[in-house]
Amino acid sequence: MQTKPGKLFIFSAPSGSGKTTIVKYLLENIEGLTFSISATSRKMRSGEQNGKDYFFMSEDEFKSRIAKNEFLEWEEVYSGSFYGTLKSEVDEMLQQGKHVLFDVDVLGGLNIKQHYQDQALAVFVKAPSISVLQERLQSRLTDSAEQIQKRIEKAEFEMTFADKFDIILINDDLAKARNEIISIVLNFINT
Ligand code: ADP
Ligand code: 5GP
Repeated sequence: MQTKPGKLFIFSAPSGSGKTTIVKYLLENIEGLTFSISATSRKMRSGEQNGKDYFFMSEDEFKSRIAKNEFLEWEEVYSGSFYGTLKSEVDEMLQQGKHVLFDVDVLGGLNIKQHYQDQALAVFVKAPSISVLQERLQSRLTDSAEQIQKRIEKAEFEMTFADKFDIILINDDLAKARNEIISIVLNFINT
């Protein structure tokens, strides 16, 4: 019997909204989900691992892979920092019947949705306000004040894409957001 192809779950949001938190929670709590590990040219943060959080590479290597058409989608998410989904990471997992989770920026998310259509569920994770986003980025302690400023400026632009997603998940009370997303994901797997 042929394996039923897996589904795609795309999580996009301005940085600091809680995508990573939500994606980790789903991976820990639903069987059969796999994370799509992106490639990036940004520097590794402390605590991150190559091949687990991202495939870290130089800008030159990233650009040579773009030229070789190895990406399903890629974006220069912040000036000088490239991020992209490698084709090799996705199709094999879907064919094995695994459901693949993506943590990508808003434009990358919409590109993946357009490519996979009804096989994909695109979720926009939304923090209650820009000031809450700023507080979360500050308390995460991973970005400089300048980087936080860049992320906040971009957030306002990214928010304008929210209604192009299949679902907007409000991440205010984390426990509530977790419960909501668990049932949304299980439902989509079973449709
Ligand atoms: P993103 O991946 O969207 O950039 P993170 O998941 O890293 O965001 O979350 C940003 C920060 O906010 C982290 O320190 C995280 O622990 C915290 N956080 C996430 N969700 C909530 C929430 N609902 N309430 C308060 N803090 C949260
Ligand atoms: P961070 O530097 O905080 O890990 O990620 C910055 C932004 O890049 C986040 O919005 C994240 O979702 C996005 N991102 C991560 N991987 C990819 C990818 O493969 N493609 C695109 N388009 N964006 C990505």
